[in-house]
Amino acid sequence: MTIEQPPLRNDCFAMPPGVDWTPVDVALETLRAGLSPVVGVETVALDAAMGRVLAEDVVARRSHPPAANSAVDGYGMALGSLGQPPHTLPLVEGRSAAGEAYEGYVPAGHAIRILTGALIPKGVDAVVLEEDCAITDTHISFSAGLKPGANVRPAGEDIGKGDEVARPGRVLSVGDVATFASVGVNAVALRKPLHVGVLSTGDELVEPGSTDNPARTYDANRPMLLSLIRAWGYVPVDLGHVADDRNDLRARLDGARVDAILTSGGASAGDEDHVSALLGEVGTRSVWRIAMKPGRPLALGLWNGVPVFGLPGNPVAAFVCSLIFARPSLSVLAGAAWVAPRAYTLPAAFRKRKKPGRREYLRARLTQDGAVEVFPSEGSGRVSGLAWADGLVELPDEAVDINPGDPVRYLPFRDFGL
Ligand code: AMP
Ligand code: MG
Repeated sequence: MTIEQPPLRNDCFAMPPGVDWTPVDVALETLRAGLSPVVGVETVALDAAMGRVLAEDVVARRSHPPAANSAVDGYGMALGSLGQPPHTLPLVEGRSAAGEAYEGYVPAGHAIRILTGALIPKGVDAVVLEEDCAITDTHISFSAGLKPGANVRPAGEDIGKGDEVARPGRVLSVGDVATFASVGVNAVALRKPLHVGVLSTGDELVEPGSTDNPARTYDANRPMLLSLIRAWGYVPVDLGHVADDRNDLRARLDGARVDAILTSGGASAGDEDHVSALLGEVGTRSVWRIAMKPGRPLALGLWNGVPVFGLPGNPVAAFVCSLIFARPSLSVLAGAAWVAPRAYTLPAAFRKRKKPGRREYLRARLTQDGAVEVFPSEGSGRVSGLAWADGLVELPDEAVDINPGDPVRYLPFRDFGL
C-alpha cells in the first residue's frame, strides 16, 4: 500500500517577520505547525510491528473474550438456582476445557468440571475454584462465599467487536501487539521507516583516531547523531563528512536518498557556513537565532523537498538542539505525534544565577537523594559532560537565582527516548 504524502511547504520553516532572537517555544511551535508526515504506508505482519508508527485505526475484528469463559480451574454450576450453602452437587459426565467446549446443558443442581479459558457451558453462571471444593469421583461440595458470575469472564469484558483499539500515529508497544493479536488483527498499516541522513561539515574534521595532528578535530557529531536516530527508532543513514566546499556539499545533499537530513557545522552566517549558504541559494532557508544556551543559529530548509536540520557544529550544542528540536520534528515526519519530554520538578543541588532573555539547558544528573546536580563546567566544549549527565536541567527564559533546594525542571534523557 502506498499513500502519497503531500509535500512539505517551501516556507514550512519561516519565522514570523520581526522575530530577532527566537524564544524556544516559538521555534517549537513553528516546527510543529509546519511539519507533517513525509513517509508512506505499508502493511506489515504483526510480529514485526513493535516500535513502528501506526498509520490507520485498528479496530477489533471480534470481541475479547469472544464468549464467556472461565478464569480458573474449578467447577461450574447454576449458582442462582441453588438453596442455602453448603452445597453438594453431582458432577455431569465430561468437562469443558480451553478449545474443547462442553456442548451440552448443565442441569440445575449439577456441576461440571471446567478449566481455565474454557467456554462457560449452557446452564452455568458461576465457577467455584477447585481449591475451595471437597471433591469425590462423583460429587463436589463447597461452602458459602461464591457470588453469581464468580470466576466467569463475560464475553467482550475487555474489548468489544468493532472497538477502536489504537489510533493512527501511535508508536506500537509490546502491549499493543498482544492486544491486536487478541482481537484477530495479524497485520497492520504502518508508516514506512523514516530514513534520516547525517552529514558532518568542516575542513577540520577527520575520522576519530585517524591522526594525531592537533589542528584536526575528530568527528564526534556523526556517530552521536547516528546513535540518536537509531535510539529514536528511525533508520540512520551515514552521509559521511564534507569539507567546507559548497559544491561538494551540494553533490552530497543531491545524492542523499533519505526522508530527512541532520547536518552539523556551518549553520551560521560566516564565510565557511556553507550549509546555511546552500539552503539560502535554493530559497527555502530559515536561519533561526534561538534564544537558548547552548545553541547558535539553526539553519533549516528543504533540499529537493527533503527537510534539512542544520545543527550547530559544537557537539554539546548539536546534542541539545537535537533533543529539543530534531526529536519532535522527526517524530512528526515519521507519522507519529509531536513529542515533548516529561519534566520533573526536583530540588536543585547547585547554585546558579542567570539573566533574562534566553532558555538554558544544563547537563544534569540525579543525586542519591533525588536532587539534581549540574556538570561543574558549563563550557560547551566539555563533551564529557554529555556522558556524565543523565538528563538536562531546563532554566526558564526569565531571570532566575537558584539556590540549593529550590525547585528546578529536570528532563531525564530517558524521556527524550534515550
Ligand atoms: P561550526 O558550527 O562549523 O562553526 O563549528 C563550531 C565548532 O564545532 C568548531 O569548533 C568545530 O570544529 C566544531 N565541530 C563542528 N563539527 C564537529 C563535529 N562533527 N565533531 C566535533 N566537533 C565539531
Ligand atoms: Mg565548521
